[in-house]
Amino acid sequence: MEIKEILELVEREKINLIDLKVVDILGKWRHVTLARTNFSEKTFYDGVGFDASNLGYARVTNSDMIMIPDPTTAIIEYIGDDKVLSMICDVYNVETGEPSLHDPRSLLKKTLESISDIADKVYFGPEYEFHIFKDVRYTVESNDISVYIDSDEGFWNSFDKGEYFIGRKKGYHRIPPFDTLMEVRNKIVNELLKYGVPVKYHHHEVGTCQVEIELSFVDALKAADYTLLVKYIARKVAKEYGLIVTFMPKPLYNEAGNGMHVHQFMVKNEKNIFAGNKLYGLSETALSYIAGLLKHAGSVMAFSNPSTNSYRRLVPGFEAPTNAVFALANRTAAIRIPAYVKDDKKRRIEFRTIDASCNPYLAFAAMILAGIDGIRKSLDPTQEGFGPFEGDAYNENIKPLPTSLGAACNELRKDNEYLTVFPKELIDHWISIKMSESREIMSIPHPKEFENYFDV
Ligand code: GLN
Ligand code: MG
Ligand code: MG
Ligand code: MG
Repeated sequence: MEIKEILELVEREKINLIDLKVVDILGKWRHVTLARTNFSEKTFYDGVGFDASNLGYARVTNSDMIMIPDPTTAIIEYIGDDKVLSMICDVYNVETGEPSLHDPRSLLKKTLESISDIADKVYFGPEYEFHIFKDVRYTVESNDISVYIDSDEGFWNSFDKGEYFIGRKKGYHRIPPFDTLMEVRNKIVNELLKYGVPVKYHHHEVGTCQVEIELSFVDALKAADYTLLVKYIARKVAKEYGLIVTFMPKPLYNEAGNGMHVHQFMVKNEKNIFAGNKLYGLSETALSYIAGLLKHAGSVMAFSNPSTNSYRRLVPGFEAPTNAVFALANRTAAIRIPAYVKDDKKRRIEFRTIDASCNPYLAFAAMILAGIDGIRKSLDPTQEGFGPFEGDAYNENIKPLPTSLGAACNELRKDNEYLTVFPKELIDHWISIKMSESREIMSIPHPKEFENYFDV
């Protein structure tokens, strides 16, 4: 919508409440709700002041910043009996009046501008995997760490109880009554469709209580906005069913983890520049993008897989990648070329490493800049030893991806020149936040360590 349309809508529909959402450094939305009396055309120019230090942005000389709503993101939400107009904001620097590059959304916008010589548009098709539980209780006290999870689907030992059960790793595309989550998924997707999110489909995933919602292609900025919207709506709808959602990459030991694969291609002059007559119907540009993304994969992962839990997912046996290789129709590789795509308009690559614990704006910006570096340097992934890989990448140690958050941070520390748009201060700040998360987890003795080492 345009500003004028929004003002008219607020007037016509007598909307009293205008909700402004901003992303924090970790990728979570924060919001503030304006009363109509405090909302006018000026809001789109002067914005609303807030304390950016509470959002975890790198300490900039002054933590007073302003958020300015992006009218193109306007949706109407129903909260109880109230119609609320909701918009996503960009963050501006008070002194300069310019968008702040410490704001992840502004950083992604700037990234897209910076590559306009190569692409007019970057298209992303993200896949959201998540778990829906009935109850989760965990305690983390100095000497007691325990997790209890309840679900309507039971776990693979539910057979003992004479109930329907799915079986370990047997949930992919299962039907009711084994799939107990179709109704809640339908409701989530209906809600998303109302907001104009182009959902492609939804289904039960491999794990018990694990589901997936996949989107059709949208431009990269929308894909990041929708990522937060999908999480928000999934959680709100599940709550109405007394259920609880997690996008944690690996909530359950020995069960499938949650990825957030991103299918991607670029368009210049209305042509998909990833389509061509090289390997697998790809162009040289696409192959160079693959090479760039795989070359920088270790440091990209500090943004795309930024939790200690991310690395519990990236282990053999659960269709999550462990090596920086590309391959046709292969789910053990970091980049898969889907075998069933025959239409050049949709010719694409799929980056499978990334998970939803990321801040999508930062992760997408890092991913794009890594690929673009490959294009600018005309890298050839076959020359660089990234494949095409055939076989089971789990059995080989070809180009191992980092196996911990600390390792990914070390990669980022060494390899960040390609992140041309990222302020240096943001990278340093990110490494310090993530290293401290990593050190904290490293310092906690694991129950399994007692089994392995108590008698050493
Ligand atoms: N859950 C897997 C992952 O962690 C993906 C499985 C699939 O989509 N077939 O990436
Ligand atoms: Mg999928
Ligand atoms: Mg999946
Ligand atoms: Mg996929």
